[in-house]
Amino acid sequence: MRIVLLGAPGSGKGTQSQRLVQRFGTPQISTGDLLRAAVKQGTPLGLAAKAAMDAGKLVSDDIVLGMIRERLAEADVAKGFILDGFPRNIAQAEALDAMLKQVGKPLTAVVQMEVPYAELTRRIAGRRSCQTCGSVYNIYSMPVGAAMVCTKCANHPPLYQRPDDNEATVVERLKVYEAQTHPLIGYYSKQGLLQSIDAQGEVDAITALLVGVLTSPARRRPLVVAKTRKVKPKAKAKAALKKTRVKAKAKARVRTKVKVKVKVKAKAKKKAKTKVKVKKKAKSAAKSRRPVAKKKARKAARKKK
Ligand code: AMP
Repeated sequence: MRIVLLGAPGSGKGTQSQRLVQRFGTPQISTGDLLRAAVKQGTPLGLAAKAAMDAGKLVSDDIVLGMIRERLAEADVAKGFILDGFPRNIAQAEALDAMLKQVGKPLTAVVQMEVPYAELTRRIAGRRSCQTCGSVYNIYSMPVGAAMVCTKCANHPPLYQRPDDNEATVVERLKVYEAQTHPLIGYYSKQGLLQSIDAQGEVDAITALLVGVLTSPARRRPLVVAKTRKVKPKAKAKAALKKTRVKAKAKARVRTKVKVKVKVKAKAKKKAKTKVKVKKKAKSAAKSRRPVAKKKARKAARKKK
């Protein structure tokens, strides 16, 4: 079994790789783990890779391909391998194809793990890892009140959060995935190697799906269902629609407010005008009444005389 697990950061490649290792006994090769080990040891390769990793960018192909070439030459790989996080762009995929062709052992399957973007960010934020054995945990799926320690290591070392699992870096990593890694779906689909699974939900259920896909006869496997392409624009469109609706509602509210204000102003103006008119009328009536009163007074005076 020589497989590649494809998927965005947080899609569960690491967790599922570890389960496949237990199930099939083939080693997991994670370029992320290899790079993190190099950074921890402070090797020249690690130092060269650190800046790109911290920024959520891809480490240069030279470094990664050198590492993979060395790892694929090790004895345990004769049983096969599970590639996790490699390849991450077309150039790496082509280089891998060339390496495997040389030894006459091409890939047997590529499985794309589909997870909606909102779920990816939640998973990454909750991810905690063991620095000793590399096991991956998630605070959202750990039992309530569980200690933040690795239960697989005898001395229970504390779990840690990867420095690149922060919000700002995650956005960049997802962007990089979309631009550079997602095109691999087309690349492997053209080779007839690609399978797609819905990687949401219970970890055990996803493992069962994965094992099913990997062990079913190639002829009966469903052909590529590259759902991410369909799901993402749909989700994006939905979000955009929601935004537009909210904006339209807000605009309508403002419009109504303005209308009401204009109406109130117009009413006040009309009232003021009416007041002025009434005053004017009263004044003119008073004026016209005044001479009559004077005449009457004069008449009364004459009579007295
Ligand atoms: P991962 O543990 O797979 O999420 O990888 C962590 C980081 O290591 C990535 O964000 C990259 O900076 C780097 N990295 C891992 N694998 C590769 C690869 N195949 N090519 C380039 N950079 C990689």
